[in-house]
Amino acid sequence: MEIVALGVLFAVPPLIVIFVLILRHGRGNLRNDLASEAVDRGYLHQQDRRRKPSTQSHHYSEYFYHSHQRGCHILSLTPRRKNADRQLIKLYPDDLPILVHPVQEKPMLGKIDTHHHIVPPAYAAWLEQRGITAGGLAIPKWSVEGALDVMAAEDTATGIFSVSTPGVHLGDDVEAREKAREVNEFTADVVAKHPGRFGFFATLTLPDVDGAIAEAKYAFDALKADGVVLISSVRGTYLGDESWAPLFEELDRRHAVVFIHPGDLPCAPVPGIPPYAADFLLDTTRAAINIAKAGWLERFSNVKFILSHAGGFIPYAAQRIAHVVAADNTNEAGIARLRRFYFDTALSSSPFALPALLAFADPSHITFGSDWPYANKDRSVDFTKLLESYPLTETQRHAIYRGNAEKLFPRLAAA
Ligand SMILES: [Zn+2]
Repeated sequence: MEIVALGVLFAVPPLIVIFVLILRHGRGNLRNDLASEAVDRGYLHQQDRRRKPSTQSHHYSEYFYHSHQRGCHILSLTPRRKNADRQLIKLYPDDLPILVHPVQEKPMLGKIDTHHHIVPPAYAAWLEQRGITAGGLAIPKWSVEGALDVMAAEDTATGIFSVSTPGVHLGDDVEAREKAREVNEFTADVVAKHPGRFGFFATLTLPDVDGAIAEAKYAFDALKADGVVLISSVRGTYLGDESWAPLFEELDRRHAVVFIHPGDLPCAPVPGIPPYAADFLLDTTRAAINIAKAGWLERFSNVKFILSHAGGFIPYAAQRIAHVVAADNTNEAGIARLRRFYFDTALSSSPFALPALLAFADPSHITFGSDWPYANKDRSVDFTKLLESYPLTETQRHAIYRGNAEKLFPRLAAA
């Protein structure tokens, strides 16, 4: 009997030690999984995997990693209770929002696409009846399912809808007002039916200024629009024209985001060269110069102007354009003015375009754009892949994918 008791006495402590070691090993593996996940996602460099002192609560254990190179902290949460989510939380040293990702799913916080079109079927039929094309291309087919499909392919959380060129004013103010109301109500309805997935820029009626002001008020107040879309020029009149200033007084009062989209130039296209290929970029560039030269960026300083397609030629040609838009004719003042614009990456994320955009634009003024469905899914995804494979810092990437848009549209900011 005594021999059995002695045997138990000597055998139990080593067994307890072995049991504890197995438990610790298991937790260590879990920590390694989280760290590997952080490395895979590019949050953490392999060499930064050193674990810092952790804290514990009865809900979870926290493990800190610090990435010196990337200037960010990774906080991993390991659940201590069943059914708790394992999470990686990325903490930025600046004022950017905190990202929270469940470990075993795709990141929930995808891109915000500020150049994402809607083509209400009745609007498409109306244009087709008149033989109107989209910059030389057929009016594309649109559906909510198609939108969600391309968003899944591009890891886009939210698309901000806009109606593309030519908009709704084809020469008749009354008809334009009816069409604007129709497309805005259709779009607001799609947005309301898919909470969080969409927003929209309201369509207005320029050159009918009174109609545009009335529709802007209705769109913001009744339809909860996120901003307005304006075409760079309408029959030869460009944004920046003093006759349109009353609309911008209203938009300034509302701190509106104005998405500027190009259309055909007010002259015949070159035979065989579709307007979207190059004319569109000049249309945007002309509008940007006209707005800047008119002093609207300071006069309507509450308005945030987003230029399509990386601003046409603005970043690439800023140095030669600058003195034209400067009040004092100097390059410095002109560059400072032009840098007040925001720029989207739609069809402009090639390794040829991005260097100019990144060198010129205020880093907090670049947003992601897909230009779907005018750029079909394959073309849009190809450009998005170019952006995703371009060497950006994590801070730049987050800002372009969604951080900058969150500041423009606070309702979309991470909770
Ligand atoms: Zn577009």
